[in-house]
Amino acid sequence: MADRSFLDWPFFEERHRDWADRLDAWCAKNLPVDHSDVDAACRDLVARLGEAGFLKPTAVDTANPGPLDVRTLCLTRETLARHDGLADFAFAMQGLGTGAISLFGTPEQQQWLDRTRAGKALSAFALSEPRSGSDVANMDMAATRDGSDYVLSGEKTWISNGGIADLYTVFARTGEAPGARGISAFLIPADTPGLEVAERLDVIAPHPLARLAFNDVRVPASAMIGKPGDGFKIAMSVLDVFRSTVGAAALGFARRALDETLDRAGSRELFGAPLFDLQMVQGHIAEMALDIDAAALLIYRAAWTKDMGAPRVTREAAMAKLFATDRAQEVIDKAVQIHGGDGVRRGHIVESLYREIRALRIYEGASDVQKVVIARQTVK
Ligand SMILES: Cc1cc2nc3c(=O)[nH]c(=O)nc-3n(C[C@H](O)[C@H](O)[C@H](O)COP(=O)(O)OP(=O)(O)OC[C@H]3O[C@@H](n4cnc5c(N)ncnc54)[C@H](O)[C@@H]3O)c2cc1C
Repeated sequence: MADRSFLDWPFFEERHRDWADRLDAWCAKNLPVDHSDVDAACRDLVARLGEAGFLKPTAVDTANPGPLDVRTLCLTRETLARHDGLADFAFAMQGLGTGAISLFGTPEQQQWLDRTRAGKALSAFALSEPRSGSDVANMDMAATRDGSDYVLSGEKTWISNGGIADLYTVFARTGEAPGARGISAFLIPADTPGLEVAERLDVIAPHPLARLAFNDVRVPASAMIGKPGDGFKIAMSVLDVFRSTVGAAALGFARRALDETLDRAGSRELFGAPLFDLQMVQGHIAEMALDIDAAALLIYRAAWTKDMGAPRVTREAAMAKLFATDRAQEVIDKAVQIHGGDGVRRGHIVESLYREIRALRIYEGASDVQKVVIARQTVK
């Protein structure tokens, strides 16, 4: 049973504790799911999470608009990741894919949110390109004005939910200024002519992922989210909300690794006593517990600060993401070690955690990029 004492920390309100309890009970009944067909599994997870009401925090409620609750987003990702990485992924993409619409969308664009929050439409966030991953401002994809339309041409890659999403938030160069100030954001329905899946991408912890081709994709100017040239700012505002939630997913993986380790160390007999009696194993367990608590403090500090109305939490979110993902990698590695041969056996839970955690140190800003962000914010 995962440690739940952190829910008593002053970052949370009663509604957060209640949400975490209800979600955990739902997860215990419904997860993990079969991962053999990730497309089908993700569609099914989104439908079932939506039906149970657990996708509501991913986007603004158009009937009762208010800010996104980052603590609920983090608690949800942490809980889902502890039970099933694919469930966390399915939840996270509903938020990341619609974040720009929640924060900057027009009332017409926000009509999509009722569907994504109910699990009736899947969303994706298309920022990265083959030539510009970390160097986002250097993107090539162009959106050219043509009368009352924009025509998008170029490629996006590493797009989570690519191929199964119903709508894409797409960033493209509109050229108001060089670099970051010449990019705009667009809402593009998946069935828009010219938008094609160029390649499906297979990674160590499989989930729906694709390279997308935009072959003269024509959309009305009303598809633009926010103002011309504001795309980079919009992308960074969305990441400001969701970056600490990546740390929360890592925290969920790490908590699961510690739970599995405690079970193993208590039940496995070596040299006539439980594995736990070996002091070096106790040392590993102490470090795992310490990393987990420290990561949780940074994550919920960032989430609480944002929820209290801070316009930006760039430093707090970068620290939370960097520390939680890097330390979760260490925690899981220790879990693999303590499980011995079983730890690397395909299909074992700690083997899958070992694969699941790796990409979190790369996407939404690699660990090295977070260090640059923290250093710049610290110098300020
Ligand atoms: C599983 C997965 C899912 C993804 N989902 C999405 C998605 O849904 N939407 C989307 O738009 N993108 C997505 N991405 C893309 C992801 O954001 C990029 O992979 C990431 O930004 C890194 O870009 P890159 O792969 O081009 O690596 P590069 O930009 O080539 O960087 C390679 C490495 O260089 C180092 N580096 C880069 N910049 C710096 C720096 N300033 N200082 C020091 N070192 C640096 C880092 O170690 C980095 O990992 C996903 C990626 C993965 C792996």
